[in-house]
Amino acid sequence: MQTQNSLARMAARNIGASKFLSPLGCKHGHGNVRYVTDNRCVICSHNRGITKENLLRMKKWREQNRERHRELCRSWSKRNYDSTAKARDYLLRKEEIKESQAAYRLTTQNLILHCAREAARRAQKGKATPPWADIAAIKAVYAQAKELEKLDGVKRHVDHIVPLKGRNVCGLHVLCNLRIITASDNLRKSARFEGLV
Ligand SMILES: [Zn+2]
Repeated sequence: MQTQNSLARMAARNIGASKFLSPLGCKHGHGNVRYVTDNRCVICSHNRGITKENLLRMKKWREQNRERHRELCRSWSKRNYDSTAKARDYLLRKEEIKESQAAYRLTTQNLILHCAREAARRAQKGKATPPWADIAAIKAVYAQAKELEKLDGVKRHVDHIVPLKGRNVCGLHVLCNLRIITASDNLRKSARFEGLV
C-alpha cells in the first residue's frame, strides 16, 4: 500500500498536479485526496487551519488591515474572474430553472383543477338535460356563439341563465335557459347568481 501511495504521488508530481488520489484512505474518514508536497490528507490539512484561535487571529488582522484586505480580495477575484463568473452564472441559471419549474408545477396543477371542474360541469349538464330537451336547438345556440365569435373576434360563452348548479337553485340545460354572452360578462356574472332567488 505504501509503495502504491508513493507511486501515485510521484505520478501526480510528474504531471505537475498539487493533489493526488491515494490508495490509502484518511484515518479520520476524509476519503483519499492528499497533497503531493507533504502527503497529507487535504481535509485534515484544511481543518488544522480552522481553529478558533486562527479564525480570531484572521479576523483581528482583517480589522487592522482593512485596505490591504480589500486589495487582496480584489486581486483574488481578478485572478479568479473566470471561475467566479462561472459560479455566478451557475447560481443564476439554477435560480432560473427553479423558477421555471415552479411555474410549470403551477400550470399543471391548474390544468388538473381545470379538467376536474370541466368534468363536473359535463356531468352536471348531463343530469340537467331533461328527456324533452331539444338537443339540436341547443347545439345550434353553441354554433351561433362560435359564428358570432368569428364575426367580431369577441369571445362568447353560452350561458345558463339559471345556473346548472347554483347554491339555491339548479337550472336546466334546455333552450329557454340559454343565452349567448361575452366571455367577460360571463366571468363577471359567474358567482353573483348564487344567493339570488
Ligand atoms: Zn483527513
